[in-house]
Order: sequence, then structure tokens, then C-alpha cells
Amino acid sequence: MSTISPEGRSASYRGQHVVVVGAGVVGLGVAAEAHRRGHRVTVVEQAAGVVGSSVQNFGHVCVTAQAGQARAYALAARERWLALGAAAGFRVARTGTHVVARTAAEMRLLAELAEQRGDDEVRLLDAGDVRAVLPVRPDAVVGGAFLPLDLQVDPRSAAPALAAWLEAHGVRFLWRTAARAVSTGRVETTRGTLTADLVVVATHHDLDRLLPDVAAHAGLRRCRLHMLRVRPGSRIPLTTPLLTGWSTVRYAALAACPSAADVAAELAAADPDGAAWDVNLMTTPQEDGTLILGDTHVRDVDAPVFQDEAGYDVLLRLGTDLLGRDDLRVVERWQGTYATAPDREVLLAEPEPGVHVATLTTGIGMTTGLGLAVEVLDRAGLDHVEPDRAEPAPGA
Ligand SMILES: Cc1cc2nc3c(=O)[nH]c(=O)nc-3n(C[C@H](O)[C@H](O)[C@H](O)COP(=O)(O)OP(=O)(O)OC[C@H]3O[C@@H](n4cnc5c(N)ncnc54)[C@H](O)[C@@H]3O)c2cc1C
Repeated sequence: MSTISPEGRSASYRGQHVVVVGAGVVGLGVAAEAHRRGHRVTVVEQAAGVVGSSVQNFGHVCVTAQAGQARAYALAARERWLALGAAAGFRVARTGTHVVARTAAEMRLLAELAEQRGDDEVRLLDAGDVRAVLPVRPDAVVGGAFLPLDLQVDPRSAAPALAAWLEAHGVRFLWRTAARAVSTGRVETTRGTLTADLVVVATHHDLDRLLPDVAAHAGLRRCRLHMLRVRPGSRIPLTTPLLTGWSTVRYAALAACPSAADVAAELAAADPDGAAWDVNLMTTPQEDGTLILGDTHVRDVDAPVFQDEAGYDVLLRLGTDLLGRDDLRVVERWQGTYATAPDREVLLAEPEPGVHVATLTTGIGMTTGLGLAVEVLDRAGLDHVEPDRAEPAPGA
């Protein structure tokens, strides 16, 4: 086995060598943070570019709906998105999120969250407000909320733009190179062996292929989702991500509210098909006038690629009803896959000294991944060895 040459070491390098396995938003977040702290960073990625969940998603940085540790990660990630977007030149939009309530119980649930969080985070809207700002079927509206902290990025281009910026600023990327084994100080890859002071494994659901015992111990599996991109016959004036009652029963902060059980029961009774597909009906508007519309959830060890058309039918029916439009033309369908595990949102582990695993185990990595990355390096004790490498201030 050959040893990969240490080229890429910059003349000004004074820190440790951090090897990150996986170039999704988590691995890129770790690379960005280690680079910012002044260390030499190599990213090992089996694909030729960013192809995992980090480009399969809605691009919704859904800060407000998170709870507990995930909320802390999300708040940190929000700042990192704004700083990195400004530095790397990709769009991070301060859109906020709208949530539409279509029953009294859904409205009650939003009021319960507003009571906890206050007006800075959750602004309740009455039916008239919602009809004025949201292109939803007007007769179905009871009220809603605006969540001003949330952000939106373009899911297809944000993570790839971050990777390109890091590569241009001294982070070495070994594309089309798979890690075959990791151990203290070593990463064996399909192109040779790397030596490292710190190894971070950010392989997401494929953790079960690299470190099967760690994955098995956490009960890690795959969750596969139906996703659609639709083009309406004429532009729909939606300018923010839009969540529905189906969303409110799954994000931790909302799901913990007293009325969540009523909302879940109501949805299951009103639409058993949607409930059977474990739908989270939500949409994000894209700059080209299309909407990303999703999603369904099926959990299993593997994620076979065959997507039952019935899942797409349910999404299209629910999306048509939500928006009150029957001119949604499907222009893309895909299967998204993310890691899932019982009773946890994140899997952090150190299976060997200096080998750290960072895996989100629910679908919130675009919201929390960049914040999780900071936490992983703090836990690993990776100090700043020089003043932070320059990144423009958030919002600059
Ligand atoms: C359909 C869908 C919608 C979603 N919507 C949202 C949303 O709107 N907001 C939100 O917050 N979250 C959302 N998520 C979740 C979010 O996208 C994920 O949590 C996040 O992208 C996970 O990032 P990651 O870096 O861990 O994984 P990934 O992006 O999957 O990256 C892991 C990388 O590791 C590489 N890899 C694996 N094994 C190896 C190996 N042995 N050697 C080298 N490389 C390896 C893979 O090729 C891959 O590139 C969604 C997810 C899906 C699927």
C-alpha cells in the first residue's frame, strides 16, 4: 500500500493534519472549521463531487423548529452559513419560513410554540394575513406563523460551492477516493494510506459500511424519501419555505407541543394515505420558478432505488390541494436518502482515540450540520493555531 504524498501542505501550515472522510455538508463543515482554526485539511470523498443528501434536500435551514442540542447546533450553523456564503459567494437567503395552519388544532400548536419562543422567533398570523402573503388555497386557511430566523440555500449548489471555495483556499480534496479503513492516525483509502493527527468520519448513512459496529450499536438505518420538483403553469408567488401541519408533527420543538398529538391524529384520520407514507408536506421555491415538493419516509437497512409511483401521487395530490393549483408539472423526481436511528438526532462517537464520527440521524443536516462540525472539533480538542483565517462577517 502506497502512502499518499503530503502535497497540499501550505508553506504557512503550523497546525495538525485533519483528515475528513465524506464531502457532504457535515464533512465540509468540519473541513471549513479546521481550516479556519489554522490546520491542514484533507477531505477524502468516494464520489467525483458532492452527491449525497447534501444536494438531495429542500435547502431549508429550519432553525426555529429544532429543540435541545440540535437547536444549539442550528443556531451555530446559521452563523456559519451566513459567513461561508458571504466568503464563498453562494446565496444564503434570510427568507424565514412560513407555516400554514389549516385546522384549529394546527393553529393551537403554532400558538404553543409562539408562547415558548416569543415574537422574535414565532410571529402568529391570522387567516387574513396568510391569505395576503401565501399562495395557498384560501378557503382551507385557519391561520399560520412566520419564523424569521430560518434561512434558505440552493440545495444543488450550496455545498458544491463550499467545497470549491475550500479547495481554492488550501483544503486538499481527494475525489473518487474511498476510505476503506480508519484507525488512530491512519486512513486507508483506495489510493493509498494517509497519516493524520485527527480523523473525522462524516460518511452519513454509509457509516455502516466503514464502521459497522458503531452504526449497529446506534441502530443506524436508511430513510428513503420521494422528492419532486414541479413547474407551475404560471409563477407561484412563494418567497419562503412553506411548512404545513404534516411538518409540525415531526420537527422536535413543534412535536413536543401539547397539541401535536391532536394534529397527528387529525391528519391520520383526514388522510390515511398521507399518514401511511409518513408524509411531511412542505415546499421550497427555487430561483428558476420551480418548487421542490416533498416528502415521504420509508426506513430500512438499505435504500433500494425503486420508488413506488404511489408516493409521488400522494405528494402531487397534497401539493395541488395545498397550493390550490392544478397546473403543477413534474420536471424531476428523485429518491433522497438520509441516516436514521431510534431515539436520537445525532450520533457522535470516538471508536478509537483521535477518530471521531459525526452523523446526523434524522433529516436536519442542512440546518445543523455546520454547527455539529464546530462541536466535533471542540470535542476533539482541536485548538486555533493562528488567528481565524479571514471570512467576511455574517451578512457582509
Ligand atoms: C430528501 C431530503 C430532504 C432533506 N431536506 C432537508 C432540509 O431541507 N433541511 C435540512 O436541514 N436537512 C434536510 N435533509 C437532511 C440533510 O440533507 C442531511 O442531514 C445532510 O445532507 C447530511 O449531510 P452529510 O454530510 O452527513 O451526508 P452526505 O451529504 O450524504 O455526505 C456523505 C458523503 O460521504 C461520502 N462517503 C460515504 N462513505 C465514504 C467512504 N468510505 N469514503 C469516502 N467517502 C464516503 C458519500 O459519498 C457522501 O458524499 C434532507 C435530506 C433528504 C434526503
